[in-house]
Amino acid sequence: MDRIVIPCSDDDSCRLPSDNFHQCLLCTNAHSSIVGRLDDIDQELSGKILHREVAVAQLASYKREYEMTRQGIGKLTVEMLMEHYEKHRLNTKGELAREIMYTQTLQTVYREKAIGSHSSTQGLAVNRVAIAEWLKLSKHKVEMLKTYNVMQRHATNQTTTQNATPYEFN
Ligand SMILES: [Zn+2]
Repeated sequence: MDRIVIPCSDDDSCRLPSDNFHQCLLCTNAHSSIVGRLDDIDQELSGKILHREVAVAQLASYKREYEMTRQGIGKLTVEMLMEHYEKHRLNTKGELAREIMYTQTLQTVYREKAIGSHSSTQGLAVNRVAIAEWLKLSKHKVEMLKTYNVMQRHATNQTTTQNATPYEFN
């Protein structure tokens, strides 16, 4: 089987995320309602404020809940929350947004560097291969945008429903 060897500068960058899953309190309790509420905070705030600020809000919420219910999954820190939500868990909407931006950047490069070149002697030269690649990227981006918009609408609907029936702490 073919292998790709990636040179690493230190141990940490060499480690695959799955190596840490079994040590992570949030991963081992991923299906609990407590982690579910932390997931909701991540979904609501990520992309709007800094990663660290999301983790601070999650920790504050976790502590409040623990004080009221005496139920928790153990001692959490901002660093543990950041590690889990950045490296162990796939934020589909965030990933998709990054993928769309990357495709957009590639398209810009194709448009500016590869598709056409102008010279005073030969006029405008158009590169058919580059146009075909650009069109592929364009279709790919439009498909991703459709999915992103559906997710966005779904998230907005959820927020509206949640506002109509606020979550009650007993
Ligand atoms: Zn984790």
